[in-house]
Amino acid sequence: MTERIVVIGADAAGMSAAAQAKRIAGDAVEIVAFERGTHSSYSACGIPYWVAGDVGELEHLIARSPEEHRRRGIDLHMRTEVEEIDLGAGVVTARDLAAGRSSREGFDSLVIATGAVPVRPPLPGADAAGVFGVQTLDDGAALLADLDRARPRRAVVVGGGYIGIEMAEALVRHGVAVTVVDQDAQPMTTLDPDMGAAVHRAMEGIGIDVRTDTAVTGFEAGGDGRVRSVETADGSIPADVVVLGLGVRPNTALARGADLPLGDHGGLRTNVQMQVMGQDRVWAGGDCVEVLNLVSGQYQHVPLGTHANKHGRVIGHNLAGSYASFPGVVGTAVSKVCHLEIARTGLRERDATRAGFEYVTVTVQSTTKAGYFPGTQQMTVKMIAERLTGRLLGVQIVGYEGSAKRIDTAATALWNRMTVEEMTALDLAYAPPFAPVWDPILVAARQAAAAVRRAGDGRR
Ligand SMILES: Cc1cc2nc3c(=O)[nH]c(=O)nc-3n(C[C@H](O)[C@H](O)[C@H](O)COP(=O)(O)OP(=O)(O)OC[C@H]3O[C@@H](n4cnc5c(N)ncnc54)[C@H](O)[C@@H]3O)c2cc1C
Repeated sequence: MTERIVVIGADAAGMSAAAQAKRIAGDAVEIVAFERGTHSSYSACGIPYWVAGDVGELEHLIARSPEEHRRRGIDLHMRTEVEEIDLGAGVVTARDLAAGRSSREGFDSLVIATGAVPVRPPLPGADAAGVFGVQTLDDGAALLADLDRARPRRAVVVGGGYIGIEMAEALVRHGVAVTVVDQDAQPMTTLDPDMGAAVHRAMEGIGIDVRTDTAVTGFEAGGDGRVRSVETADGSIPADVVVLGLGVRPNTALARGADLPLGDHGGLRTNVQMQVMGQDRVWAGGDCVEVLNLVSGQYQHVPLGTHANKHGRVIGHNLAGSYASFPGVVGTAVSKVCHLEIARTGLRERDATRAGFEYVTVTVQSTTKAGYFPGTQQMTVKMIAERLTGRLLGVQIVGYEGSAKRIDTAATALWNRMTVEEMTALDLAYAPPFAPVWDPILVAARQAAAAVRRAGDGRR
């Protein structure tokens, strides 16, 4: 008998699940997908680079169009919003937004991949013309059209997280004077304060005005309805255009309405097969779920495309009767602002404390290539290890070209619960154009191992 699968949300998680299930199970599954937006399988991750001009066309950010999905046998309904899930009856109610008509669709299995909603505090003036979010391709297109039409000279980016700093770069590349405002004491709070301070200094070096410890209280519009300043507790900042990068929260209103279990961060909780806890025919993945951090042992909301795609693949395998699992994350992320690269994996100091670890930290200054090699760049590596066992707990990297992707070595070591002493023996590639003879990760591991030994000696 054909299994009928309904998918809600047609981006990374939803369509990866649909495509994978169809690839494996073929005609044994009938897949109906609903997407309230105008694009399927698109890369929101590419929006800052599209706005910056690195990526030429919107189409380049679309991995698979609705027509391509349909050709592969997925019945994808665009501009159609699922309004309700009736788990008992095995039915969703979907509304065709153009026609204004609702219909009921039965399912044997349901995939919830509704993503996240941007955080929007109720600040006065936030709906003024010239204030933009960057959540969807349509948002990106609206901002690009505005930059072209209004030719702003001064921009304020609200939020100094990774989307905020990537958008700051995009605006700098348009020749706009950029101010980044963040209520925290540093940009990139996903790093420890010392590493965040390095990002702060580098951003100022690029000419970006970074205002930390500054809470935005509203937006002032001119007589034409267009934003002209961002109001803060410390005064007014003139702005011709504003970009909001205030983070996201799981989009789980639909799931809540169906009484599905949500975790402390508002996301759906699943087992390793991405099946919603306590439900045998409901699956969820992507930005609407919480994930287990394998280092801290705690659930987190980590809204990243890398996880959403993996979740989708896992759901697709399991729906098709094959097996795949997603055990959790170690907290790896990478970003950049102009030439400065920023990467992190594992726990920050405050996470380690919260998770009950005693730890040592080391910070090393090194270079991306042999010190004598043309084009070698500075990089800083901070490494955190458990105080007595020497287990690696986290790594943060701030540096120039060639720095960031070194985080993957640390992420792999974390995944395998290696100690920093074990890491000192890693067989990492060396030739002068690629690394110093001691790779910065090895130097940090050596120093961390020495710090662990000293901590052990201190106990005797
Ligand atoms: C500017 C930006 C840059 C980013 N950069 C990176 C990066 O560099 N690296 C990285 O790993 N991640 C990055 N991300 C995050 C990444 O884009 C997301 O984690 C990823 O898109 C999540 O995929 P998803 O399928 O879970 O959710 P989404 O991509 O949000 O898709 C969910 C879909 O569900 C639809 N939907 C929601 N509710 C309904 C409903 N009731 N009915 C029908 N449809 C519905 C939505 O319209 C949406 O299209 C970035 C995000 C942004 C915004």
